[in-house]
Amino acid sequence: MAFLRARGIGALPWILCLLACSPAGAQRLPTTITPNHYDLAFDVDLATARFEGVETINVSLAQPSRRITLNALDIQFHEVTINAGGSDQKASVALNTATETAALTVAREMPAGPAAIHVRYTGTLNDKLRGFYLSKANGRNYAVTQFESTDARRAFPSFDEPAFKATFSVTLTIDQGDTAVANGQLVSDTPGPKPGRHTLTFSETPKMSSYLVAMAVGDFRCLEGGSEGVPIRICATPDKTELGRLALDAAQRILAFYNGYYTIKYPFKKLDVVAVPDFAAGAMENTAAIFYREVDLLADSKSASVENLQRIWVVLAHEMAHQWFGDLVTMQWWDDLWLNEGFATWMEKRPLAALKPEWRMDVEAVLDTQRAMALDALGSTRAIHTAVETPAEIEASFDVIAYEKGASVMRMIEGYLGPEVFRNGVNTYIDQHAYGNATSADFWTAMTKVSGKPIDRILPTFVNQPGVPVVGVTLRCDASPQLAVSSERFFTDPAMAKVVRTKPSWETPLCTKTPAAASGCSVVGKQATIPVEVASCPRWAFVNTGANGYFRSAYSADMLRAIAPDIGSSFSEPERLSIVGDEWALVRAGRHSVADYLTLAAGFGREHANGVLAEVSSRLLFVRDYLTSGESQEKYERFMQSLFGPLYRELGLNASPGDDDDKRALRATVIQTLDLGGNDAALASDARRALEKSLSGGAAMDASAAKAIASVAARHGDQTLWTQLLDASQRANSPTERYRLLYALGAFEDPALIDRGLNFALTPELRSQDTPTFLGSFLSNPMARPRAWAFIKQHWNELAPKTTIAGGDTRLVESLGAFCDSRSRDDIKDFFKTHKLPAASRALDQTIERINNCIAMKERESGNVAAWLAAR
Ligand SMILES: [Zn+2]
Repeated sequence: MAFLRARGIGALPWILCLLACSPAGAQRLPTTITPNHYDLAFDVDLATARFEGVETINVSLAQPSRRITLNALDIQFHEVTINAGGSDQKASVALNTATETAALTVAREMPAGPAAIHVRYTGTLNDKLRGFYLSKANGRNYAVTQFESTDARRAFPSFDEPAFKATFSVTLTIDQGDTAVANGQLVSDTPGPKPGRHTLTFSETPKMSSYLVAMAVGDFRCLEGGSEGVPIRICATPDKTELGRLALDAAQRILAFYNGYYTIKYPFKKLDVVAVPDFAAGAMENTAAIFYREVDLLADSKSASVENLQRIWVVLAHEMAHQWFGDLVTMQWWDDLWLNEGFATWMEKRPLAALKPEWRMDVEAVLDTQRAMALDALGSTRAIHTAVETPAEIEASFDVIAYEKGASVMRMIEGYLGPEVFRNGVNTYIDQHAYGNATSADFWTAMTKVSGKPIDRILPTFVNQPGVPVVGVTLRCDASPQLAVSSERFFTDPAMAKVVRTKPSWETPLCTKTPAAASGCSVVGKQATIPVEVASCPRWAFVNTGANGYFRSAYSADMLRAIAPDIGSSFSEPERLSIVGDEWALVRAGRHSVADYLTLAAGFGREHANGVLAEVSSRLLFVRDYLTSGESQEKYERFMQSLFGPLYRELGLNASPGDDDDKRALRATVIQTLDLGGNDAALASDARRALEKSLSGGAAMDASAAKAIASVAARHGDQTLWTQLLDASQRANSPTERYRLLYALGAFEDPALIDRGLNFALTPELRSQDTPTFLGSFLSNPMARPRAWAFIKQHWNELAPKTTIAGGDTRLVESLGAFCDSRSRDDIKDFFKTHKLPAASRALDQTIERINNCIAMKERESGNVAAWLAAR
């Protein structure tokens, strides 16, 4: 699934994945009965939101038995017959909703060997955005599936675990005038069986896991194209079909790239990509039928920002990478989810780096690593490989650890082996396990064999243990130059070292460079001495060449002083980003003072790489929001004006024809930072003028700066603007435009307008899928935060059904991590003691720990900020 975070300052971390919350007990199916093939026929009635299912499952019994247990939930069984040993027997059905299973029992023992289970059943198209569910747009109903992780069982009785791979043949009976998409190709479309209906048959799929089965039914229209002999379609509701052109172009080029990367060419006969009006995740990699939320797939070239375009490309590249990693080769069990998600998050940047070099995927990758390391510095983090059993535990594992840490660890190994050797290892692994399942150990065994390097020694230390190492580096030149390095677990709160009992140690590849040259990689444990291959003592030696490592670096003070003047000349943008990121982490941990960071950051006023500036900006905004107040805040805002004002005056609000994509994105970062950090009055009135002009049909804002401009204007805006924004968002056909204006409602500072915005969340006009993000926009606004939290508590009964689907509960809990005081912390803890969110319980621990870390930093560093400002 796509699980990406929106970029941009003050943006809510936009985690897109499904989180279930049914408190089911642990239950794995027995392995003595395995499915081989499913025949699935659905009769779908969109008007009554019901479906009838007729199913045959061909299974193999390893031993004689009277009972077959499989998964089923929220469906009504009408008749079950099992054919085994040449005779049919009626089966009784015992449902267990706690384990989400059905036990089918027959009177006479069935012999070992093949058996066929026939089931007639009915179900409801639900409003929970999972299983087989109802979606609505333009007054019409649609039926759509979302099965990952454990919801195929809501649509058909199934052996609903990833290791039970089988082939699937699907038939759909639907209304005349509607169409359907499934995993297979359409092989027949015949009228009937009743008047006004038609029946569509799809080709048998290759062997695959049940969570990858997909169906979409309704009035969809598709754009058609193709690449490398594979037909590709982008489908949407009729009013939005034309907005799929950008995605079609991207999908065609990405498929060609992957066919060049993998030795196995695209393994399925067609690719359909469907934009669904209500969709919980960002997107879902169903085999040959990728489903999407509209805003992540559809855009028109006029109103699309660089951020939109990147999102469309990145999510397509992510879901298409899964066709190999996930669909063709699937993790054995959900505890190795990182093999799917870490890999797809790493791989999504490969085609973009090749096809869209201006988007700086090397910088994006380091931002992923920084995000993962920030979470991994908490005591409440988890290891990549973590035991999971219940649906809630499985869903909770779709997190930054599976995605961004998984990707970062892959990238570290690629950096250590070199891209070609790594690619050979990947292809060997895929070839060995195609149409089957694999574990973490299968992956590092293949990598070790192909590379001849100790990947099976390195990877388990990063996959099976929680946390991130910090590598201390000291240069010694008494004899021939050497680096003394040591590594230990890094915590934002140093006291955690005593609280957390696990004492991991890592085998870390360090790749060294000096001002003169790169000098190779060494794998180091807890303590080591690395020779530096240079003739004389270098000024400095840097151990994270390419910024490929998954570790924090702590250089000795004299080495850091030697590095500083060479930052612009000797270090790439990813390396610069890793240096400032590590410095901030050391400040957060109390190892360095915030004054050191401010001195370093004050040198970034001329930084023109957006990824680097965005990282520095977000830290500077943290300082403003949490470490200054009253007089120190006014002084700090003047510092921010002096730092970012010149860049704003250089870039302006509007794009120039020659601007490349990075410059357009940089402009948005500067606008947001100068407003939120510098409270710049001239900018506020510029933004209001530009927004009003565009809302009244005048000159459009630059698409990439529009979101920033709208939120600046909203922050200083009044009731007239509030109404204009809401009206315009409801008129917008392009999802980009709609959400840009809608989420700006969260930026207002006037208490009455904050309340009006919050109340909009209670109306049916806000889709469930959008509710957590909408509320999050208020929680990320310091002026709205306390009111938003009070509102959420007060209206929990109404909001819970909208936020406990779609991973919304986790996103909401994470948004609360923006509080930085003990009263709010205790209140949050108390509230969720009585309002339990099983799938978000680890996220809640992390939120509480984050708030505690913020409180400690506020106490420790506020005086240092004031002193630094006074000394300027
Ligand atoms: Zn994914």
